[in-house]
Amino acid sequence: MLCQSCEVKAKTAFKMKTYMALMGAAIFFVVIMSMYLMLDQTKSFGEMSGPYDTRLKLQKFSHEDIDILQQKIGALENDLSSNQKTINQLRNAVKSLSNGIIPDLPNLVEEEETPKKEEVIVKKPEAIHEPVIVDSKDLKQNWKTMPAVTVAKAEIFTEECAFGAAPNGNTADVQMLDVYDSLRFDNPDGGVWKQGFDITTSPDQWKDDPLRVFLIPHSHNDPGWIKTVDKYFHDQTVHILDNMVIKLQEHSKMKFIWAEMSYLSMWWEKTSQQNRDITKRLIDEGRLEIVTGGWVMNDEANTNYFAMIDQLIEGHEWLEAFLGVKPKSGWSIDPFGLTPTMAYLLQRMGFESMLIQRVHYAVKKYLAREKKLEFLWRQNWDHGSSTDMFCHMMPFYSYDVPHTCGPDPKICCQYDFKRLPGGRINCPWKIAPVPITDQNVAKKAEVLLDQYRKKSSLYKTNILLVPLGDDFRFDKPAEWDQQYTNYQKLFEYMNGHENWNVQAQFGTLSDYFGAVIEQTKGRIGNQPQGFPVLSGDFFTYTDREQDYWSGYYTSRPFYKNMDRVLESHLRAAEIIYTVAATKARQMGVGKKFDEDSLIRMVTLARRNLALFQHHDAITGTAKDHVVVDYGTKLLISVSDMRKVMMQSIHFLLSPDQTKYSPSSAYFDVDAERLKHDALPEKKVLKLSTEASSIAVFYNTLAHHRNELIRLHVSSPNVKVTDAENNLIQSQSNLIWMDGSQTASTKYELVFAVDIAPLGLKKYLIRDMGESQSPHHSLSSAVMYHVSGSGTEKRGPFVVEKVSLSPTSDFTMENSHIKATFSASTGLLKSTMTKSDGAVTATELQFLLYGTVAQKAKSGAYLFLPDGPAKPITINKPLIRVVRGPLLSEVYVSLPNVDHLVTIKGTTGVDSQSLNILNHVDIRNTRNQELIMRIKSDIQNPDRTFYTDLNGFQLQQRKTLDKLPIQANYYPMPSMAYLESSSTRMSLLTSHPSGVASLETGWIDIVLDRRLNQDDSRGLQQGVLDNKLTGLSYQLLIERNDGGATVKQVRNSPRSLWGWLKGDSKSTAQPAGFPSLLGHAASVSLEHPLYIHTALPESQETSSQLIPEFQVLDEQLPCDIHLLNLRTRIQQSNNAVEAKREAFLLLHRRGFDCRYPGLALSCSTNGGKVSSRNLFQNLNIRGLQATSLSGMYDGNEMEIDSDFTIETMEVNTYRVQFH
Ligand SMILES: [Zn+2]
Repeated sequence: MLCQSCEVKAKTAFKMKTYMALMGAAIFFVVIMSMYLMLDQTKSFGEMSGPYDTRLKLQKFSHEDIDILQQKIGALENDLSSNQKTINQLRNAVKSLSNGIIPDLPNLVEEEETPKKEEVIVKKPEAIHEPVIVDSKDLKQNWKTMPAVTVAKAEIFTEECAFGAAPNGNTADVQMLDVYDSLRFDNPDGGVWKQGFDITTSPDQWKDDPLRVFLIPHSHNDPGWIKTVDKYFHDQTVHILDNMVIKLQEHSKMKFIWAEMSYLSMWWEKTSQQNRDITKRLIDEGRLEIVTGGWVMNDEANTNYFAMIDQLIEGHEWLEAFLGVKPKSGWSIDPFGLTPTMAYLLQRMGFESMLIQRVHYAVKKYLAREKKLEFLWRQNWDHGSSTDMFCHMMPFYSYDVPHTCGPDPKICCQYDFKRLPGGRINCPWKIAPVPITDQNVAKKAEVLLDQYRKKSSLYKTNILLVPLGDDFRFDKPAEWDQQYTNYQKLFEYMNGHENWNVQAQFGTLSDYFGAVIEQTKGRIGNQPQGFPVLSGDFFTYTDREQDYWSGYYTSRPFYKNMDRVLESHLRAAEIIYTVAATKARQMGVGKKFDEDSLIRMVTLARRNLALFQHHDAITGTAKDHVVVDYGTKLLISVSDMRKVMMQSIHFLLSPDQTKYSPSSAYFDVDAERLKHDALPEKKVLKLSTEASSIAVFYNTLAHHRNELIRLHVSSPNVKVTDAENNLIQSQSNLIWMDGSQTASTKYELVFAVDIAPLGLKKYLIRDMGESQSPHHSLSSAVMYHVSGSGTEKRGPFVVEKVSLSPTSDFTMENSHIKATFSASTGLLKSTMTKSDGAVTATELQFLLYGTVAQKAKSGAYLFLPDGPAKPITINKPLIRVVRGPLLSEVYVSLPNVDHLVTIKGTTGVDSQSLNILNHVDIRNTRNQELIMRIKSDIQNPDRTFYTDLNGFQLQQRKTLDKLPIQANYYPMPSMAYLESSSTRMSLLTSHPSGVASLETGWIDIVLDRRLNQDDSRGLQQGVLDNKLTGLSYQLLIERNDGGATVKQVRNSPRSLWGWLKGDSKSTAQPAGFPSLLGHAASVSLEHPLYIHTALPESQETSSQLIPEFQVLDEQLPCDIHLLNLRTRIQQSNNAVEAKREAFLLLHRRGFDCRYPGLALSCSTNGGKVSSRNLFQNLNIRGLQATSLSGMYDGNEMEIDSDFTIETMEVNTYRVQFH
C-alpha cells in the first residue's frame, strides 16, 4: 500500500478547526497588542523580560485593564459580527482572565506576525493581479494567460491500477463485441418467423422429458405515453386491478404478474381494504407475482444509475410497507435496448433471474441458433463471476400474443382470445381466433402445441415461458374469462394426452424461473448450470430492417436535461436533509425543524423522478401533452428540493441550533425556472455599500472542491470575502442580452469557491461603489463581425468592436490548457496541454442530418438519416471574446445555436477542461437533427471508442461499415471517449444524448432533433415541441503518463508492468475506465455547487450564521462516490413520516491509472471507508450492510469500523440514528 499524502490529507482535514483556533488566537493577540499600546502610555513595562512574554504581561492586568479590554471586544464584535464563534472564544478567555485564570491559548508567539484586522489575508491564487487596463490598444494583450496556479495530483494506491489495467470481458462464452464483429446483419427472410429461421421439431424430443409450459398473463401499463399516467389510471389501470382481484378469485388456476408500483400504489390508495387483503392473499398463494417491483419499468439507455437504483428502492420500499413482498424476477419487456447495468443492479438487489425482450433481431436470431437465449449475464469488468445474473431473452419480434406462443404470428394471434370476432381488435394476419369448443379443441391444441414445441427448441431446457398479454390488457372482465376458459380447455386437452408429453398451465414468471433453476441448479446455491456466460450490452436496438432506435437517445433533450437537474437536486436535498433532520432530532429541536413536511416533498420528488425514468418518459417518446405533464412534475420537485435544501442549510448554519426558529423566507435561490419548459433565470443579488450580502454554497460531493461560480449581482465593483474576512479574487463580466447588447443594471460576478467535502460555506459580497478593490477585475470584451468599429465604454467596462475577422486564429488559455480558435468561424480548432506542450486537433463543427425520402422517416424513436450530416453554413458569425483573470470565453452566434466555450482559472477540476455550452433552438427547421462534431487527430485504432452505460460503466464501441449510420449511434448518458496510445479525448455531458465516432478521431453528439412525422411505433405524432435548450459539455484532453504509478507497480509483488506498458494495452478492452480526473469532472458537471443567497430582510440575522459546516472530517478516497444518504420513510395510507434511519449508498469507481489525477487533492487507499469520518456529526446507533435496495439484511457492523468496498461495486448500508 502506498499513501504518501495521507499525513498531508489529515492535516488539511483539520485545517478548518486549526484555522478557527488560530483566528481566535490572532484576534486575541490583536486585542492584547492594542491594550498593550494603550497601557504603554500610562505604565512602564521596562522590566519586561522580553517582547513575547505574554504570560507575564497578562498577569499584570488590572480590573480596569479588563474593562478596557471588554470595550475593545465590543468594538470588535461590531466589526467581526461574522464570526460569532470567535467572539465567544474571546469572551470565555476574558471571563477566565477576570477570574484570575490564565486561559490556555494557542501559541501566540508564532502568531505575532498575524496582520491586524484591517489588513487582509489573501487566499489563493496568491499573486494579486492588476486590474484590467482599459486602454483599448492594450486590450488584446490583457489576460492572454490566466494567473499561474499549481494543482494537486491524486495519490494512487498502486495496486488499484490492476483493476483498470487487467484484461477484461474475456471470461464470457459470448462477448457481444465479437458477435457484432462476426454477424453479417443481412436480414434474409426466415419464413413464418420472418427474422429467424425455419424450426423443425420431432415429437420424440419430449418423450423422456415432457414439455412444461408456463403461460404468464400480464398487462403492460405505461405510466404515461399516449395518455398521462393519471388518465391511463382512471381509464384503464384501475379496472385492470379491480378485475384482477375478482377474476383471480373466480378462476382458481389463473395467475397474473404486475410490474409498475407507481400504478399499484395509486390503486392501493383508493381501493377497499377488502381488495387489499385479497391482493395480499393472492401474492401469498403465488397467484399474483410482483416482477421487478420498480416504480416504473425504466428506460435503460438514457437513465443514470442513481435514478435506476432510486426508482427500484422506491418500489421495493413501497412493497415492503404495504405488501411485505420481495420481488425476485426482473421483467423488462418494452425498454428499447438493454443494459448490463440493470443486470448488475438486480443481481445486487438479490434477484434470482431476469427477462428481456427488445434486442436487435439479428442478435436474437444468432443466440437462438446457438441455443443461447438464456445465459448468465456477466459484467465486462467482472474478473470473477460474482455478477452473473440468469437472464432469459424472448426470441421473437414483440411481447404481444402473436409473437409469444411460437414462431408463427399468424397462428399465435389465433390464441389471443381478446381478438375473438366482435371485439375491438382483430388479427392483422386475417385469421381470427375462434372460441375453443369440444369440437375444435383437438385440432386447436395440436396446432398450439406445435408452436410451443418450436419455441421450446430454441432453449436448452424443456421448460417453456409463454407471456400472454399486451399493453393495458385485462381491463374488461370478459377478457379474463375469454383467456382463462379457452386456455384452460386447451391445457386440459393437452395435459390429458399423455403421449403428447406436455404439461401446460398458467404460471408466474417465478414459476418459470423456479422450474428452470430447480432442474439445472448445481449442488451449491441456486445458480443455474449449463448456460453460457454472456458479456456486453444490447444497443442499438432495431425491431426490423434498418429501423434502428437511436433517435430516442436524443429526443426531447430539454427534458432529458431536466431529468439530470432533478436528479442532482434530489440527491443534494436527500443528503443535507438527512443530516439536518438527524441533528435536529438529536438536539431536541422538536418540530421547529419541519422534518415532516420536508420528507413529504422529498418523497414526492423521488416519485416524480422515478416516474420520469419510465421508458416513454425520459426517452422523449410520449405525446406532447404527456411531456408537459412530466415536465410540470419535474419542475415542482426541482423547486421543492431547493426548499428542502434551504431549510436544512439554514438549520445547520444557525449559530445556536437548540434555539432554532424556522423562517420560510430566509434564503433565495440563485436561479429559478419559471415554467416547466423555460431555462433557469439567474436572479440578481442586490448589493449594498453599507453591508455585505451573503451567499451560501453547498458542495454535495464527498470531495473537496475549488470551483468557479457565477452569480448575477447589481454592481460591477465588488469585494468578495469569506467569513473570516479573507479577500477572494473576483471578476466581473458584462451580461450579454443578445449578441451585442448588454445589461446596464446587472453584472456577472465570478469567483472561486473553496469548499470542504459535503460542506456548506458562507461568502460575503459588498458593493464597492466607486472604489476599486485590488482583488477584483473587470473582464474585457472584443466583438468581431459587428457593424462599426472602435472602443466603447459600457459602465466601467470597455468593449471593442471590430467589423472584420480576427487577424489570425486566436487563443485562450489558463495554466494548464491553451485553446486555439478559428479566425473566421470563432470555433475551436486545437487544444494544447501546457505541461508537455503537445497539441491535439479538436476541430469543432455543427452539422445537420436530414431524413430519408421514403415514407418511413425519422421520428421520436427512429433515426433514419438521408446520408452523412452536412455542415451548417457559417458566414462571418458574431464572435465575442471575453477575457479575465478567472474566466475567459469565446461566444459564437450561429444558425440554431449560440455556442460558448469557457476556460477557468482555478486550482480545481474545472480548470482542466474546456467548458462548452450550446443554447440550441431548431424551431425554424424541418426534419433536421443538429449535431456537434469534434474532429481530433487522435488515432483511435479500428474506430474504437467508449460510451458509458447509465453513468455506471464504460462500454467499448466500434464503428462498423456493415451497419448504417443510425446503427453506429449509441446512447451517451454521461460521457464518451476515444484514445490513442498517448492521448485520450473525453466529452462529458450534463444530459443524455446519442453519440457516434464515424471516422477515426471524431466524436459526434446529437444536440436536438425536430421531426415532422410519426415513425410508426404507435406514438402517432412527430417531435415538434422543441424548446430553447441549454446543453453543457466538458472537453477533456489527457496525456497517458503511465509514469509514477508504473514505477511502483514494477516493484509490486504481482507485477502489472506488462498490463500497463505491454502490448495487451494496445488492444482496446470491452470495459473502459475514466481517469480519476474524468470521474471528478463528470460528477462535478452532474452535481454543481448549490448557491443560496440571504434575502435582504434577513441580512441582519444572516451575518450570525456560522461561516462553515462540514459533514465529513476528511474527504472520501478519490474513487469513492457518495451516491446517496437517503432517509427511510414510514408509510401508511395517506401518511409519510421520516424514520430515524437512512440508506447510505457508496460507489467505488474503477479508473484508469495511466492518466494522472490532476487537480485532485484526494488519494485512494484500496476502497477503505471510515464510518467514524462519515458520521462524526451524527450520532449513530447501528450500521448494517444490506442488499442494494435494502430488501435483505447483511452483516451488522461496528459503529466505529472501517469497511472496504470492492472496485466497481455500489454498496448499501442501513444507518440507524439516535
Ligand atoms: Zn411500454
